[in-house]
Amino acid sequence: AESPRTNFIRQIIEADLASGKHDRIATRFPPEPNGYLHIGHAKSIVLNFGLAQSFGGICNLRFDDTNPIKENMEFVESIKEDVRWLGFDWEDRLYFASDYFEQLYGFAVELIEKGLAYVCELNAEEMRAYRGTLTEPGKDSPYRDRSVEENLDLFKRMRAGEFPDGSRTLRARIDMASPNINLRDPVLYRIKHGVVHHQTGSAWCLYPTYDYTHPISDALEGITHSLCTLEFEDHRPLYDWCVANVSVPSKPRQIEFSRLNLEYTVMSKRRLTDLVGEGHVQGWDDPRMPTLAGLRRRGYTPASIREFCERIGVTKSDNLVEMALLESAIREDLDAKAPRRMAVLRPLKVVLTNVSENQQMEASNHPKDAAMGTRSIPFGREIYIDRTDFEEQPPKGFKRLIPGGEVRLRNAYVIRCEEVVKNEAGEILELRASVDLDTLGKNPEGRKVKGVIHWVSAEHAVSAEVRLYDRLFGVATPGAGGADYREAINPDALRVLTGCMLEPALRGAETGERFQFEREGYFVVDPDSTSEHPVFNLTVGLRDTWGK
Ligand code: ATP
Ligand code: MG
Ligand code: MG
Repeated sequence: AESPRTNFIRQIIEADLASGKHDRIATRFPPEPNGYLHIGHAKSIVLNFGLAQSFGGICNLRFDDTNPIKENMEFVESIKEDVRWLGFDWEDRLYFASDYFEQLYGFAVELIEKGLAYVCELNAEEMRAYRGTLTEPGKDSPYRDRSVEENLDLFKRMRAGEFPDGSRTLRARIDMASPNINLRDPVLYRIKHGVVHHQTGSAWCLYPTYDYTHPISDALEGITHSLCTLEFEDHRPLYDWCVANVSVPSKPRQIEFSRLNLEYTVMSKRRLTDLVGEGHVQGWDDPRMPTLAGLRRRGYTPASIREFCERIGVTKSDNLVEMALLESAIREDLDAKAPRRMAVLRPLKVVLTNVSENQQMEASNHPKDAAMGTRSIPFGREIYIDRTDFEEQPPKGFKRLIPGGEVRLRNAYVIRCEEVVKNEAGEILELRASVDLDTLGKNPEGRKVKGVIHWVSAEHAVSAEVRLYDRLFGVATPGAGGADYREAINPDALRVLTGCMLEPALRGAETGERFQFEREGYFVVDPDSTSEHPVFNLTVGLRDTWGK
């Protein structure tokens, strides 16, 4: 593999190791288990695990599970599977923020004892009104100056379940006039009765907020560099406040980088959840989805996604990455690795009138890689070609088959179209053609045949379903300018072709096997496949034809 490109975070780490600030770095990938991972998470995974790998450090997988209502074990399991699939290993460093609930509670007691936290009885609406705005300072809560004893007692009773949801919160006592709204006495704990947490069950009715939990979890795990996306830049003073004011064993540093935004898709988990829940796609692993499960089912390789993440780089400026960049990463990987096959997606029968015996043709599995070997392809009197490779009234420059014209069959002979057989409605039923038997592996005498088309022997063909995928959205930035992103859903993002005819070497291909169908694109076997009914998904076309 190529060595990773440098970036500002690598430079910070190099300096921290050179100065002796750290002997070994520790990073973490902290997903909330409220959805499946998407390509944006891949950027964070490749960054965090990649840094640990290249600097000889460690990277934890930590579930940030402080919001139990939207979380569940299906998401936990899918996230583990996807991180492994991407090629990373947390070994024995699997954590849940909920592992620290007892410690976090203890640190909250410490803050109360130091006069740095208080139990507040403002409701959500009042709290908003007291918070102020960007231009106006907030107002102190009437509960801000309770005694330590009273706060300790109330906090204990909050834990014991004496108060209903929303009636009380624990707040940090920082500064209601701070220009940074995140420092205006942020909430540290809220009450939630009746939820069953996937890890802690019904043990708690008091849940810590993300802003309080995250820095302390990092500190408890000895994380040195806590990497997050830019929207948390304004939260960093609160992050630092938390680790500075409780007795944690280490002082992690938060560093922000820009999140991945990708054209023609959406990545907020809310929107992805709705796409699944409202039935716009068939599930989290629908091949149209930007989830890792969807990309896997679409035929993306882990290597192509890692390479894509390296190519987009890590910076502090937000931008929109072209879908073509992701597509070229997978195209390059599959160009090198995918065996070539012939598959006729829109079959048109051609009877070769001067052929009576079957014959075996030898074909290489990869034009640039002899090590991938060869296969034999049966050839016989009846073959299928693609409907789009024949034109009765050819447009200018059409190099494929026309009435009376010649074309080369890939890995076989030159044929000439002698007759077009139609039904009463004028639809083409089949073609009759003659074979120039002197053209196997050589050019015909005295004339040039320009076109080469693929074909499959009718007697030996494997019938299959082929799912052609396109971008899920018809516009680059769905939902931009306040529009409903659903309006931009591309209704043609999935087209299903049935009765496709494949060469027999594709019989028995296993789920996840990838091939280039010559002249069509790269395809992968879908898990819906059975031996009677193979299903292939289009991963990506042969070249970037978007908009052309
Ligand atoms: P959403 O806002 O869609 O709910 P999230 O950021 O809350 O996503 P998490 O599960 O909390 O999702 O994310 C886990 C980690 O992945 C975080 O460190 C987050 O910064 C990172 N991450 C999420 N989305 C992206 C993205 N588009 N680009 C880069 N990193 C991302
Ligand atoms: Mg989120
Ligand atoms: Mg998050």
